[in-house]
Amino acid sequence: MTITSNASNALGIYIHIPFCIQKCGYCDFLSFTGSSRGDRKRYVDGLLEEILYWGGEHDELADSLRGRPVDTIFIGGGTPSLLEASEIDRLLGALARNFKLNTATEITIEANPGTINREQTASYRSAGVNRLSLGAQSFYANELMILGRVHSAADVRQAVADSRAAGFDNINLDLMFGIPGQSLKTWGDTLEQAFSLQPEHLSFYSLEIEDGTPFGAAFATGQLQAPCPETERQMYYEARWRLESNGFEVYEISNAARSGRQCRHNLKYWTMQEYLGIGLGAHSYIGRNRLVNPTEMSAYLAMVEQPDAVGEAMTAVRGSPATDKKTQDYRMRQPNTEADDQSDYLFTGLRLTRGLERAHFHNRYSVYPEDIWGAGIRRQLALGRLEYDADRSCLRLTMKGRDLMNQVLLDLFDS
Ligand code: SF4
Repeated sequence: MTITSNASNALGIYIHIPFCIQKCGYCDFLSFTGSSRGDRKRYVDGLLEEILYWGGEHDELADSLRGRPVDTIFIGGGTPSLLEASEIDRLLGALARNFKLNTATEITIEANPGTINREQTASYRSAGVNRLSLGAQSFYANELMILGRVHSAADVRQAVADSRAAGFDNINLDLMFGIPGQSLKTWGDTLEQAFSLQPEHLSFYSLEIEDGTPFGAAFATGQLQAPCPETERQMYYEARWRLESNGFEVYEISNAARSGRQCRHNLKYWTMQEYLGIGLGAHSYIGRNRLVNPTEMSAYLAMVEQPDAVGEAMTAVRGSPATDKKTQDYRMRQPNTEADDQSDYLFTGLRLTRGLERAHFHNRYSVYPEDIWGAGIRRQLALGRLEYDADRSCLRLTMKGRDLMNQVLLDLFDS
């Protein structure tokens, strides 16, 4: 399977929906529970204002976006499936009026299998959504309960059946390993149950324990225990082996797809293509600028409900004193230096199985990775953690390097 970098000027758009029914014990994403119908409606109105802002004439940055072709849209969260289909329709309609979308635009929505039904999937499809990403995580009730998920394995099967009936031919299932109480056997069984639903794409992430979450506290006191690191590595390789045996290509450390079904939106992140983030705490990468929206709901709504303030916000630069109100209330903007940009590209490019495309890197920065991190690259090649493909067009991690990715990157960034 060949992946080509998107060298066109097409943009990706991410829309963040921060509402959930209940907070999963491990989750440190920007999401919260207890929203009312009215809260969600006001937020969607805010998203529409932000889309309208980017469609207007403001400054050089907005000018660089106005009317641009958009080839991927990702509505993520949170739990976007808590929104009504008519709200998704309004959002996509606003994007279509302010950017150039076409029938080939990949439009993904994340859905919680416990919050979606047949009618809703059909309405999403009619609104133009053509890719569905379901947070399945596990097919074992006790594992789902430990994670604090609101759905069952039966809900996942039903959601896939409903989506197929609605005409979705591009479905991703998110799976998780390293769950307390999970064994190699139950993980293997979860993978097999996922295969039986014939998804086009599978993501498989290990459970990360984050400070400040209920899991962080439970792990600190020993109340919960994850499988040992060796078992977790075995789970990772078990997944790769089973995926490849079932016709998937593992094209990124934690993502696998059938031929031609890689997530085009996520590939933008991994190949340093431009994307615009809309919504609470959403990140953007535009013209080598990193932008971050406010993470407080009241600040976000203030920003989008007062369009003049948004313009002012664009002058706010990360790194201003914390007492500077703009850095708290408005969108933060940090121009990437060329060195930052190159390091980001190395970091994301090495996540891909094919590795970092050297010619693409050179086209972008007029240097090859070896001109910047030569000593480290030579050391890691000698250690068998990095390698070139047959014609030296890509630099990539070996299997051994993948297990030690942090050490590889530290060595490269030190060189
Ligand atoms: S559904 Fe997703 S975003 Fe919501 S709490 Fe659970 S893990 Fe976090």
